[in-house]
Parts: sequence; C-alpha cells; structure tokens
Amino acid sequence: MKRFSIIAAAALVCTAAIAKAPKPDSVRIAKYRDAKAAAVSFTFDDGSLDHYTLVAPELEKNGLRGTFWIIGNSVGTWAVSADQVRDLSDRGHEIGNHTWSHADLVKIDAEAVRTEIARTDSLLESITGKRPEAVAFPFNRYDKSVLAEAMKGRVACRTWQTGQGQARNKSTAEGMTRWLDKVVAEGRWGITMTHGITSGYDAWEDETILWHFFAEVASRQDEIWVDTFSRIGAYAAERDACVLVTSQKGRMLTVTPQCSLDETLYHEPLTLVVTLDGVDHCLSFNPFSGPITINLRKLARE
Ligand SMILES: [Zn+2]
Repeated sequence: MKRFSIIAAAALVCTAAIAKAPKPDSVRIAKYRDAKAAAVSFTFDDGSLDHYTLVAPELEKNGLRGTFWIIGNSVGTWAVSADQVRDLSDRGHEIGNHTWSHADLVKIDAEAVRTEIARTDSLLESITGKRPEAVAFPFNRYDKSVLAEAMKGRVACRTWQTGQGQARNKSTAEGMTRWLDKVVAEGRWGITMTHGITSGYDAWEDETILWHFFAEVASRQDEIWVDTFSRIGAYAAERDACVLVTSQKGRMLTVTPQCSLDETLYHEPLTLVVTLDGVDHCLSFNPFSGPITINLRKLARE
C-alpha cells in the first residue's frame, strides 16, 4: 500500500512539472538584429575625396560605419586613392562595387555589363583583400538581367535608396528627421545615398547638417540597427529565406533553422525571438549550424 502511494505521489509531482514547463507564445526570427524596430545603412556614391577626409571620420566619431561605392577607373584619379580605399576597408567601412566606368548598365550588352562589374571586383579585391559583397548601379539603372549578373556570388545589390544632399535633393535637418521617424514607424530598412559633400553632384551648402544627422541616428540605436549595406542586406536575405521548425519536450525547446541560401556567401548571425509570458527573449544564432536547443525554464529566469 505504502509503495503504491509513493508511486501515486511521484506521478502527481511529475504531472505538475509538465504542466509548469513554460510554453512559448511565439518563436520567430527578428525582422532586424536584436529585434530593433528598423535599420539604416549610410551609403556614399562615387568615392569622392570628401568621403575619405570628411565622411568617414564623422561616421566614426559616432561609432558608425558606412558603405562607399567605388568606381573602378576613378581610383587614384580625381577620386580616392587605392591606399585610401584600403584604409576605409581596414577601418571597418564597406567598399562596394559601383562598376568600372559608371556606365548605364541598361544601355550596354551583357558582356560589357560583366566586364564593368568583374574588372571592378578584381581591382577592389586586389586593394582590400575582399571581393565586394554588394553592387550599386550607376544612375540607379538596372533591369532583370543586369541585376542577375550583379548578384552572382554576392549578398545584395542596392535597388532602392533615399537621396540626401542639398544642391539637388534639398535635404534639410527637419526633413531628414522626418524620414528617419518614418523608417522607424514603418519598420523599414532605410538606405541613404549621398554624393558630393563640399563640391560635386548634389553637394551640401552646409554639410554639418549631415554630421548632426549621423549623431541623431547614432543616438537612436536602441531602436535602429545601423550597419553597412551588405550586413543588413545579408541579414534580410537570410531572414526571408529561413524557416524555423520547432518542437518541445518538457522544458527543452528545439529550433531547427532551414535556410536555402549559399552558406559560403551568407554569414550574418540572425536574431531568434522566443516570447515567454509576453516577454521577448533574444538569442543570436547561425542559420546554417543545425538545431538549437533552449532550456525554457532557464530562459524564463533571464
Ligand atoms: Zn554613381
């Protein structure tokens, strides 16, 4: 009798334990790193000297890094030198491919498109040691076949952007803040496009407006993920191509990411969000490294 009652008691305890195992409200991939509301990439076109002497130091003052789109045949001429390109890359900025001669890629044949892109890849790789991970199209002009060629072995190409400058875009401090507020409110990835600074296409009458904008974006990093174009582009592609398969045994949750992308190209960690009792818990994970096991009870205590 005594033995029986012990078993009964044990069974009771066991049932209570199962009932108590936390069950997540949801398990998902965050839209942006660390479940931030929005993302911003600062990008600069054509590699003017001001980008090296003014923009990069101003970004760095705020702990930010930008993406600089370099035209192959301009390196060491009126634009940045090879040493300056290398220095930007070494300092953590992204060096992107902006074609060899700034050609309108829609107007030239497929072989010429290939050459415009490949020649610039070779030059930039010989300078920085890294093949550019992204392309921005001259005049923002591309079609389906140009995009397909540019995307070969690459994580992203710039296909939308917001121009910032004064000669042409008439950017104001208020207008840029309004844009930023909208990016955050709509949960978008805002990509800026800036050309000239003190001179050149769409130059600024007062470039300090831009420096203040860098500081403003930097001060809102609790809600905005600010990073280079390729990092956010890779995250977005992985997020969209990855499916999570989940199963739970007691307190242990197993999440198996299934990602169809080429893992030799994509290596941005994603953010997993496990919501327990209305509280979001964020974990960084590699979408290519197989099942992730999470102790939900431990997570609930965090
Ligand atoms: Zn350009």
